[in-house]
Amino acid sequence: MGCSILFNLAARGLTNSILLERESLGSGSTGRSSGAVRMHYSNEVHARMAWQSLEIFRNFDQVVGGSVEDQAAFVETGYLIFSGDDDVDAFHANVAMHQRVGIRSSIISREDAAEIAPAFNLEDCAAIAYEPMSGHADPSGVAAAYASRARELGAQVRLQSPATTVEISSGKVTAVITAGDRIETPMAVVATGPWSRRFLLEHGIDLPLEATRHEVIHLKRPVDKLPYHPGGADIANLIYFRPEGADLTLVGNGNIEQVVDDPEIYAARPSQSFIQEVWSRLVRRIPVMEEAEFSTGYAGLYTSTPDSHPIIDRVEGIDGLYICTGFSGHGFKLSPMVGVLMAELMLDGRATTIDIFPLRMSRFREGDLNSPSYGFKVLV
Ligand SMILES: Cc1cc2nc3c(=O)[nH]c(=O)nc-3n(C[C@H](O)[C@H](O)[C@H](O)COP(=O)(O)OP(=O)(O)OC[C@H]3O[C@@H](n4cnc5c(N)ncnc54)[C@H](O)[C@@H]3O)c2cc1C
Repeated sequence: MGCSILFNLAARGLTNSILLERESLGSGSTGRSSGAVRMHYSNEVHARMAWQSLEIFRNFDQVVGGSVEDQAAFVETGYLIFSGDDDVDAFHANVAMHQRVGIRSSIISREDAAEIAPAFNLEDCAAIAYEPMSGHADPSGVAAAYASRARELGAQVRLQSPATTVEISSGKVTAVITAGDRIETPMAVVATGPWSRRFLLEHGIDLPLEATRHEVIHLKRPVDKLPYHPGGADIANLIYFRPEGADLTLVGNGNIEQVVDDPEIYAARPSQSFIQEVWSRLVRRIPVMEEAEFSTGYAGLYTSTPDSHPIIDRVEGIDGLYICTGFSGHGFKLSPMVGVLMAELMLDGRATTIDIFPLRMSRFREGDLNSPSYGFKVLV
């Protein structure tokens, strides 16, 4: 988010911004992200952000410009979304909303799905949606590309430079402090991912953000039997998956989570029980994956909010302070538009391309949370 914001500010002419990164680019959630870029959401604000971001991912080199070359590496795989029995009505309503928004998505028959994914078991599917233009991209590559282009435009990126404090005086941002520097500025954005709760609390801002640990595994496909398959979000089996490289399948879950107190201390490897659980769920959908081999796995942190919607807002009562966090496990696909919207909020006073009112920070105080229609966390 920080890199996308930095680039979008620079592209709009604010070229003297500085990105302070605690460690290295992508060292938080982004470097461990599954990179899935699909459109299926139950709410319009996310669907619109995902769809307009997809347009950017697909034309990344032209939109970002400069010497950035194919670093986003968008791969169109098509995406199948499988409804559970209890979700069918909501599922149909979602796809109708997607079509209203302009997203290329439709409910398809089992026969059509069997042509797209011949190896899949489709017997238990209450309904299936297909997004032919969706796929995945490389999260670290996207962050690096945004940062490189922002630098070309004049912005600075300082690695190994944690911000310790945002200095606020008479209700206004005056500077950002690091261990060795005081950077005068009238504007600061807190886009600190899993570190956000702690950082904001130190500034008296108490938001219900949690760092939660999530695991992902890569399985080596039996490529003679399954050379390729589209991406998928399987609500019935509570997994998501996509092809990775030439012969791997990435599988994640989103719902099996563990709250982490300190974002710097968590088990970085997947547990045996997770591997067994998601692998067997995958086999229910793709039986031939029983013959797959375990390749690798890892864990990363989501920054979760109670309604799985992010917070993109200015802080009331502190002129020049902005918050952009809480992406709850599905922020990568939104990141191109998050940068656009943040630049609008900061430079024009409000975001105009998409109505981000549902993402305001006061919703927690007001008790006006968004209501995701799924129990499947990453789908919201
Ligand atoms: C396992 C996993 C799978 C995922 N899969 C998907 C997916 O398929 N599709 C999708 O859309 N999303 C996915 N996500 C979610 C997505 O990756 C995140 O929503 C997104 O990367 C969040 O970006 P961010 O910039 O908010 O946070 P981060 O990437 O965590 O960036 C925050 C940065 O702030 C830095 N920082 C923290 N404190 C300070 C400080 N005081 N000073 C300076 N720097 C600081 C950190 O070092 C970090 O680099 C996944 C996430 C995980 C963990």
